[in-house]
Amino acid sequence: MSTERVVVIGAGHAGIQLAALLRQGGFAGPITLIADEPGLPYQRPPLSKAYLAGEMTEAALALRPAAFFASQNVTLIEGDGVTAIARECHEVVLASGARYGYDHLVLATGAANRALPVQGAHLDGVVGLRSLAEAQALKARLDSLKQVVVIGAGFIGLEFAAIAAERGIAVTVIEQAPRPLMRGVTAEMSTYLTGAHIGWGTKLLTDTGVRSILGTTRAEAVETSTGEIIPADLVLVAIGVVPNTALAAAAGLAVGNGITVDAFLRTADPAISAIGDCANFPLAALDTSIRLESVQNAVDQARCVADRIRGKAAPYAKLPWFWSDQGPLKLQIAGLSTGTDQTVIRGEPSSGAFSVFCFRAGHLIAVESLNRAADHMLARKLLAGTPALTPTQAADPDFDLRTAA
Ligand code: FAD
Repeated sequence: MSTERVVVIGAGHAGIQLAALLRQGGFAGPITLIADEPGLPYQRPPLSKAYLAGEMTEAALALRPAAFFASQNVTLIEGDGVTAIARECHEVVLASGARYGYDHLVLATGAANRALPVQGAHLDGVVGLRSLAEAQALKARLDSLKQVVVIGAGFIGLEFAAIAAERGIAVTVIEQAPRPLMRGVTAEMSTYLTGAHIGWGTKLLTDTGVRSILGTTRAEAVETSTGEIIPADLVLVAIGVVPNTALAAAAGLAVGNGITVDAFLRTADPAISAIGDCANFPLAALDTSIRLESVQNAVDQARCVADRIRGKAAPYAKLPWFWSDQGPLKLQIAGLSTGTDQTVIRGEPSSGAFSVFCFRAGHLIAVESLNRAADHMLARKLLAGTPALTPTQAADPDFDLRTAA
C-alpha cells in the first residue's frame, strides 16, 4: 500500500479530479489539496451561464459536496495559498507559514484574468468574470444595469452579453480582432454567432480597441480606439487569461505560455507535474506545444497524472472538446480547428442547427456543432480514432455519419 504523499496546489476542476481519481483507483497515501480561494471548490463554467442567469444555485456549483473530503480522506486546505516550493526538501510553504512535504507535487494553479492595460481600468464597475466572488458581485449588480460594455468577444464575453441582452440591458461588445471568437471557432461559426448576438440587440464593434475607461470613481463610459465614447454603468473585461506560472518559475521550473511539461505532464523535476489551464504540454497532432482552457483538458490531464502516480504511466493524448451556451444556442466543439483548410457545413444554418466539419489536407480535425448534440457525440467518436470521413461524405446530407465512426 502506497504511503507516498501527494500535494496538489489548486482545487479547481483539475485538482479536485486528481484527488478523486487517485482515491477511486485505490491510492491510499495522504492527499492534500491546497486552495487559495476560500470555501468549497466550485465549477467555473456555470458562472457565465446558468448561475449568472439565476437558473442555478450557488450550492449546486460545488465540484464535490463537503462530505467528500472526509469520506475520501482528502485534506482540503482552503483560503491559504502556496507561496513557495522548496524543491530541495520536497516541501511547499503556505501564506500562513504552514509547510507540507510531498513525494508527488501537482501544480493545478489554473489561470487569472488578463488585465486591461488602459487608464480607468481600476474604476469601480470595471469587472472580470473568473472566480465565484466575481460572479457573485456581477450577479448582484445585474438588476440595476441599463447599459454595459463587454471588452472581448471571446466565449465568456459573449456568454455574458447574451444573458445581459436577454434582461433588456443595452450591450456593446468591443473586439479588437476582425471577428468574434477569432481563436476559438471557424469564420463560418463566428459569422452565425455574430448574427445571433446582433439579432438579440447587441452592438458589436470589431477591429476596435479600447483607449480608456472614463469616470471619476465609477466607470461611466468606454472610449474606443476610434474615439467613440460608449456610456456604460458596468464594463466587463473578458480579454482572456494568463496562466498562473509564478510559483513554478520561482522554483526554477521552465515556464512560457504555461508551465512546461512533457508528454507525461511532468516538469523537468520528476516529482512535479502540472495539469489543466496552467500546463503547456506537447500536442502530437499539431506537432507543437499548447495550453488549453477547458474542463475536458483539466479532467483528462488529472486522469493521466493520477494513473502515473498509481504506476500506470502513459503519455497524454486525449481529444480536446469544449462547449459554450449563448442564449438558446448550444455550441459544442470536438477537436482543434487550427490549420483548417476546408470546411463543410451539415444542416441548415438558417434553422439554427448545423455543424461545421473542419478538414486539413483532407483529414477531419474538428467539428463545431450548434444545437446538434448528436453530431458532436459522433464527432468525438470519429476524432478519437483516425477518421475516414471525407469532405464529400460530410457534405452529403444523406451520408450516415455513423458509418464513418
Ligand atoms: P482553475 O479552475 O482555474 O483552478 C485553479 C485554482 O488554483 C484556482 O482556484 C486558483 O485560485 C488556485 N491557485 C492558483 N495559485 C494557487 C496557489 N499558489 N496556492 C493555492 N491555490 C492556487 N470550460 C469549458 O470546457 N466549457 C465552458 O463552458 C467553460 N466556461 C467557462 C466560464 C467561465 C466564466 C470561466 C472562468 C471558465 C470557463 N471554462 C469553460 C474554463 C474552465 O473553467 C477551466 O478550463 C477550468 O476551470 C480549468 O481548471 P483548472 O483546475 O486547471 O484551473
